[in-house]
Amino acid sequence: MQLNILYVEDNPDDHFILEHSLKKHLAVDFKLTVSKTGKEGIENIKKENFDIIILDYKLPDMTGLEILRELRRQRYQKPIIFVTSKGNEEIAVEAMKLGVKDYIVKDNIPTKRLSESINEILLESALPKNIDIDTAKEIYRVLSENSTIRVDVVGTPQVIPNVQIPLSALFSTLDKMSEKGLLKKEPTHSIIACPACNSLVISINVKCPDCGSRLIKSGEAIEHFTCGYIGFESEFEKGNFSLLCPKCTKELKMVGVDYRKISNCYKCVYGHLFNIPAIVVICKKCNKEFSFDQAVLEPIYEYQLSENGKKTFKLSILASEIKNF
Ligand SMILES: [Zn+2]
Ligand SMILES: [Zn+2]
Ligand SMILES: [Zn+2]
Repeated sequence: MQLNILYVEDNPDDHFILEHSLKKHLAVDFKLTVSKTGKEGIENIKKENFDIIILDYKLPDMTGLEILRELRRQRYQKPIIFVTSKGNEEIAVEAMKLGVKDYIVKDNIPTKRLSESINEILLESALPKNIDIDTAKEIYRVLSENSTIRVDVVGTPQVIPNVQIPLSALFSTLDKMSEKGLLKKEPTHSIIACPACNSLVISINVKCPDCGSRLIKSGEAIEHFTCGYIGFESEFEKGNFSLLCPKCTKELKMVGVDYRKISNCYKCVYGHLFNIPAIVVICKKCNKEFSFDQAVLEPIYEYQLSENGKKTFKLSILASEIKNF
């Protein structure tokens, strides 16, 4: 990215100082065009598409305010930073009324201040127009402390680490920032979503493969070879020395001879026995039942700052530090 800056100022010393200061403090590459008169400045603005205009108040042919009024008539939209000398605060107030982004008093504030002002404007222009800058800054803060933001789904979507932003605002901002290349968005794993309504809030249930009943018990079962009865161990009453079959009431003699034990057995309420229950997924939102085969797989994403994002946000940090002086 190369920033195209126009500086309207007649003093060559100021050109020199500004150019050096920008080289030192500006986080991006830039091209600086200088106009030495107001008329030349307005001409240049007509001809070329500048990202930022830096406008000095005192010019040989007209004042900065006159230029501002002219640009306003032309409905000029690009950010303008106004520079006045000390003691001209009323002029600065007038310039703010005319819509300048910032004004700088050049006598007592180092030119570093100007770079910071440009950085702040850059951040604003780098962030998508429709996103909330404070949300974006909060995301940056969290991402600089933790390397990633992960969206996880445990019943309801959760963000790890916990971010103090309403989820809908957070998700839309994360996505808009990814689209702009400020964040890297990587799918980390897939989760099951309802094929009917796409809800991620689901429950996984077991059912009898024979009758579909969802009332199932599991346990250790016994098969009595003598009568063919299969039931849970708990159904067999204890005799003096062994177990009694609940069907034929006979005593079980010896494991492997007249009965066997079946571990991890399932039994439905209608008496069907099975080793592996059928799995049914139920959407908690629309109540649709579906199998894993029918489920929609939704990717879950992790967000990280991209190099571009790091660079962009550094601008705002620098700018806010300066403002706190
Ligand atoms: Zn059954
Ligand atoms: Zn029996
Ligand atoms: Zn559903």
